[in-house]
Amino acid sequence: MSFQQILSEVFGYAQFRGPQQAIIEHVGAGGDALVLMPTGGGKSLCYQIPAIARHQAGHGVTIVISPLIALMHDQVGALHEAGVSAAFLNSTLSGEEAYQVEQRLMRGEITLLYAAPERITTPRFLAQLDSLFERGCLSLFAIDEAHCVSQWGHDFRPEYRALTVLHERFAGVPRMALTATADDLTRADILERLQLEDARAFVSSFDRPNIRYSIVEKRDSTQQLLRFIEREHEGEAGIVYCQSRRKVEDIAQTLVDAGIKALPYHAGFDPKVRQTHQDRFLREEGIVMVATIAFGMGIDKPDVRFVAHLDMPKNIEGYYQETGRAGRDGLPAEAWMGYGLQDVVNQRRMIDESPAGEEFKQVMRGKLDALLGLAEATDCRRVRLLTYFGETSQACGNCDNCLHPPAVWDGTDAARKLLSTIYRIQQMSGISFGAGHLMDIVRGKTTEKVTQHAHERLSTFGIGANFTELQLRGVLRQLIAMGAVAVDAQAFNTLQLTEQSRAVLKGEVAVQLRESVSAPTERKSKRSTRLSTVVKAPINLDSEGLMRYSALKAWRAEIAKEHNLPAYVIFHDATLAAIAQRAPQSLDDLQGISGIGAKKLEAYAQEVLRVVALD
Ligand code: ADP
Ligand code: ZN
Repeated sequence: MSFQQILSEVFGYAQFRGPQQAIIEHVGAGGDALVLMPTGGGKSLCYQIPAIARHQAGHGVTIVISPLIALMHDQVGALHEAGVSAAFLNSTLSGEEAYQVEQRLMRGEITLLYAAPERITTPRFLAQLDSLFERGCLSLFAIDEAHCVSQWGHDFRPEYRALTVLHERFAGVPRMALTATADDLTRADILERLQLEDARAFVSSFDRPNIRYSIVEKRDSTQQLLRFIEREHEGEAGIVYCQSRRKVEDIAQTLVDAGIKALPYHAGFDPKVRQTHQDRFLREEGIVMVATIAFGMGIDKPDVRFVAHLDMPKNIEGYYQETGRAGRDGLPAEAWMGYGLQDVVNQRRMIDESPAGEEFKQVMRGKLDALLGLAEATDCRRVRLLTYFGETSQACGNCDNCLHPPAVWDGTDAARKLLSTIYRIQQMSGISFGAGHLMDIVRGKTTEKVTQHAHERLSTFGIGANFTELQLRGVLRQLIAMGAVAVDAQAFNTLQLTEQSRAVLKGEVAVQLRESVSAPTERKSKRSTRLSTVVKAPINLDSEGLMRYSALKAWRAEIAKEHNLPAYVIFHDATLAAIAQRAPQSLDDLQGISGIGAKKLEAYAQEVLRVVALD
């Protein structure tokens, strides 16, 4: 079969997306490749189609190297549904099951074999690969999540370093590395570490046009999150990222108390609990996963409608990778982040206190600054994000700043007042103080602490009385973000001037701030919204169409349960909606609906027709 035939007959898709075709042709012909594509871009097909074509042509098995043992079962299950012979080898298999897989592997029956890097580099597995290699039955190595090889990436896995063995031991077997993490440093590191310098690089646009980005100033972030979910994403699947395990558990509980189906996930839970929660997220509809960044890599659930950050990530790569988990199906999705002074302080502190070397810290600070720039931006977020990944673009019309251009005010005067107060406190008392005390002085509040240190005698006491605390907080946050104020983590987060302070004090650098948004309004009452919940379909359907759609969903849930697979592995929502709209009465009517390959047509057409007839 040609690549195009495999695409339509096996996977049921009419057209290649973006650079898929070029990649597939290159790798299918035995070339090495580095594939950089955003999450949801369609990386899997880039190795699955060459794997199928090369297996048919007698080149043998494709080994897919992936760090995600917990997801291999579903990945392989999805291929089975499409009629592709695939298997995985990992610690979840019994000795007997693993032996069976090895036998099938050696007999050449497997098209795609998934394994983790630790497994690949065991003497036993290497010996099996040797034997396949000698017989010319080793077709391709696909190294998924290839950024794990780099310490600059955010998921460094030392085991990935051992993958150089592939190149050395199996010279001539094509290799492709795939990742959604793209900054130059990581990219160069991947090429060097995996010795892919001569591979052809395929770099897609990193734009995810269906994701709407918004970054809001934190007030009461839990309430803000609740409002966001209840207003915009009721009943929909989403991920909420928090920094600490403790916070994950608290927020999950808060959501549950508010009637939202939420589950917690972090590395501190027993592996069984983690697996159960992950499975429920993948298999049930409308679950909100509250998690640390331990959750999400490789999660290919296509209908995650939002990703919310309650704490700021470390850098733009992390932010982009995490938010990229929303809307893989191409339907509208949202990336929402709450951001505040404390985030800036925490992230700076984590870098300062880390045991890493100074060079590494410098890189990390640079990356953090880029993210702070994004958070403080008053212009298009997407332009900023894409610029970071080396792409030029126009204002997108689908981010908070484009949709509701923020009013900007000049915070330079307030900034100078804050800075000169920090300077004067230091001069008078010989020690530094934290943000709260600083703002009290600038706003002229006579607190106990102010009196105790006689700070009402400072010449700057009360010079910023015309500013609200919120405004000053915003200014201070931006000063810290731009490095004009340093936070000393070793000394109770006290504030100090830096080299950069002078330029602001002299008025050489302007401080532009977004006008604070109006006060938060009341949440919708829980009960009224719960009652009004209706089926949401990804396309506009009439009432009959909606009935067919919900019947199809119910049917799909049964099948998914029977097969122990997530529902989307059977059919995507978009496929079900297309079926519901077309109201097919015969097999012919089902032809050409995206997402129905030959195997699925054969397996499910009759039942789908029956369900659609609403008998
Ligand atoms: P990635 O691994 O890059 O994040 P996936 O390989 O999971 O992305 O693909 C994202 C979604 O897009 C999947 O649900 C996949 O079935 C779908 N997809 C990929 N390629 C195509 C295509 N050519 N046409 C239609 N859908 C596609
Ligand atoms: Zn925009």
